[in-house]
Amino acid sequence: MINHQYIESLLDEAKNASRKNIQEVLDKAQRKEGLNHRDIAILLQLQDEDQLREVFKIAGEIKQSIYGNRIVVFAPLYVSDYCVNNCLYCGYRRDNAFPRRRLSREEIQHEVQLLEKMGHKRLALEVGEDPVNCDIDYVLDAMDAIYSTHTANGEIRRINVNIAATSTENYEKLKEAGIGTYILFQETYHQPTYEAMHPNSLKGNYDYHLTAFDRAMEAGIDDFGAGVLFGLADYKFEVLALMLHNEYLEQQYGVGFHTISVPRLKKAEGMELDHFHHLISDEVFKKIVAIIRLAVPYTGIILSTREAPEIRREVLRYGVTQISAGSCTGVGGYKESDSGKKVNQFELTDHRSPLEVLKELISDGNIPSYCTACYRQNRTGDRFMQLAKSGQIQNICGPNALMTLMEFVLDYGDEELLTMVEDVIHQETMKIQREDIRNLTLKNLENLKNGERDLYL
Ligand code: SAM
Ligand code: SF4
Repeated sequence: MINHQYIESLLDEAKNASRKNIQEVLDKAQRKEGLNHRDIAILLQLQDEDQLREVFKIAGEIKQSIYGNRIVVFAPLYVSDYCVNNCLYCGYRRDNAFPRRRLSREEIQHEVQLLEKMGHKRLALEVGEDPVNCDIDYVLDAMDAIYSTHTANGEIRRINVNIAATSTENYEKLKEAGIGTYILFQETYHQPTYEAMHPNSLKGNYDYHLTAFDRAMEAGIDDFGAGVLFGLADYKFEVLALMLHNEYLEQQYGVGFHTISVPRLKKAEGMELDHFHHLISDEVFKKIVAIIRLAVPYTGIILSTREAPEIRREVLRYGVTQISAGSCTGVGGYKESDSGKKVNQFELTDHRSPLEVLKELISDGNIPSYCTACYRQNRTGDRFMQLAKSGQIQNICGPNALMTLMEFVLDYGDEELLTMVEDVIHQETMKIQREDIRNLTLKNLENLKNGERDLYL
């Protein structure tokens, strides 16, 4: 599925694309048909400022027409920093000497309580790879601990799981335990770089890592999210390879990535950023997000706390659909930041609380959404894609965003947020085109104010 020479030759050929070829790709993108890898290579090689402006403009239009102003909000939860791998870019790598730990069931529940009190409903569970200290049973137990932790009006309704590539049997167990999206970043698709970055590591097996989603699919997980750690190898190569991976999965199973994450390499313990020669600028980062938006209009794009508020704001316009808020990337991080200490896998750039992030999102015209309905209604894999492509998902996600935002405001908001949101929710509800759905949404909003919770379509 990933042939290095083929990718290089596609990128070379694309340098000679005519104005007519380029315009054809842009027209196709505008029709929201998605792009194939040849089209994507052409966009990656664009130099002309006017054409690049056109890419950003179309990305903005696609974002608006498919997702409106909704932004899904989530938080990562690190429960174990034991790791047998030596990934050269990561603070958790084996060679870094620090006291490692994994949270007990009670500690996990304490972290979850703090997250619930921030209003979170959706988590990304994160662990290092360690078959002894953090085996699959530990991960399953952590999921159970999370799903069974409830505070006043607080509960986690969806756990996305970001653990190392594993066996079909283990994916079956994760499916059984109620996994949301299985997230795994390829880090780099460039095999020589991949091998150099993961010396003497379980994770060092490029093919085993690359075929993880095939095994997940075999185990019945049809909701998976991919990503590249930008900064390890040439970004044009990475984006094209990522898209070829997606095309392969679509052809093979009829389902591509549910989400794509776009992490950029950050400073971490035991590594220096200037040892990495493929770091990308903010301009390139924005271009990557816009091109992915044109290439796969219906795939969610996730941005994490790794990015500063200013750049977040820009990429939200060009395609990002999910962001993390109020995050800690250290084991026990929520408790420790509650008491003033910090331990991180890598450095964060955005240190604001979810409430602050939410206020900014709303004043920029976004609607933060805590919706987790699709996964709970079995709208995953190709079922989700069909709904998305037919446009019907708009009738579901829009109202659900408004209801979950109202729930957040009632349970975790302050006076300022309440005043900000009441008008917005009213205006947005009035924009819902189907009368039956508009009325149902109005009724549900009223019911939420009267104390009902967890209402969704
Ligand atoms: N251990 C699992 C793995 O490696 O797939 C999953 C969890 S790991 C904590 C999550 C992700 O953090 C990795 O896939 C990697 O892309 C990212 N990461 C590691 N070091 C980073 C750094 N210095 N800057 C930004 N992201 C980093
Ligand atoms: Fe371990 Fe994952 Fe960090 Fe690699 S990226 S050192 S596997 S936690």
